Amino acid sequence: MKAPVFDYHRARSVQDALAALADGNGDAKPMAGGCSLGPMLNLRLARPTRVVDLRHAPELRRVEETSDRLIIGALWTHAEIEDGAMPCATNGFLPSVAHGIAYRAVRNRGTIGGSVAHADPAADWISTLLTLDARLLIHAPDGERQASIDTFMLGGYSTELGDDELLTGIVLPKLSSRGRWAYHKICRKTGEFAKAIGAVLHDPERGLTRVVCGAIERTPILLEETSAALGRAGPQAAAAVLRDEIDRRLSDHDAVFRQMHHTAVDRALAELGSK
Ligand SMILES: Cc1cc2nc3c(=O)[nH]c(=O)nc-3n(C[C@H](O)[C@H](O)[C@H](O)COP(=O)(O)OP(=O)(O)OC[C@H]3O[C@@H](n4cnc5c(N)ncnc54)[C@H](O)[C@@H]3O)c2cc1C
Repeated sequence: MKAPVFDYHRARSVQDALAALADGNGDAKPMAGGCSLGPMLNLRLARPTRVVDLRHAPELRRVEETSDRLIIGALWTHAEIEDGAMPCATNGFLPSVAHGIAYRAVRNRGTIGGSVAHADPAADWISTLLTLDARLLIHAPDGERQASIDTFMLGGYSTELGDDELLTGIVLPKLSSRGRWAYHKICRKTGEFAKAIGAVLHDPERGLTRVVCGAIERTPILLEETSAALGRAGPQAAAAVLRDEIDRRLSDHDAVFRQMHHTAVDRALAELGSK
């Protein structure tokens, strides 16, 4: 099947893109790498009357460093992050996750912002950014705001972004030299979407200790009790409370699903312990 007819607008700036979206009266869609939007158009799951191409808006490729933050534009591709084309604030966490996304042809086009805005529950960035306690920069016609990654995703393929809004950047914490992370993705073949994700971060100097379980068919979850045990007493203590928390938080899923997600997080904790 071919995509339905739409009007194509190449935006030259964020303001230009916002104006083109506003003109679309809710029927316009932004396009970043097109890796998900392209198939959705061809399958006619999306039928926008206008597609606003973001790839020529230079602000979406910004990189800005402060003493404790790195701000990156939404349009950085997975491949560029994998290759270390920007300063690394996360002790290798972002490049390693990027390397595990799909295969190189997809990574060459797919963008971190497109992935987060698309909000596929099985995608890698949404779980990673939750682990890092990242914040998101959103531009609306009436100005800019920051959103917490904790509340940005409302459910599978659903976010707090309005039809006339753009995700323009991601604010990442800079980890200290003592910041350690581990990420375990269960998938049948290398480069596939995850069946289960376990992600762990412990940076005592930055006060960041977070354990996340992802690819659960809805918003990834921050495992608060396991995170607290990790911060208090280390990976083994965290692993001891993990089973109970997973069983409670995923009680609407069957035992196989809970076991797979327990395994993903448990392996991430074990890897953290060995670092
Ligand atoms: C074969 C294949 C395998 C894949 N495997 C994985 C995988 O293993 N792990 C993984 O995490 N991902 C995977 N992906 C997803 C891929 O990596 C991209 O992240 C994803 O397709 C979206 O990024 P994009 O830049 O192409 O966005 P697009 O396809 O351009 O856009 C996706 C959606 O987000 C909206 N959008 C895009 N940018 C913005 C913005 N800045 N502001 C507001 N809305 C925006 C669009 O309107 C659209 O609705 C895979 C994709 C394919 C095709």
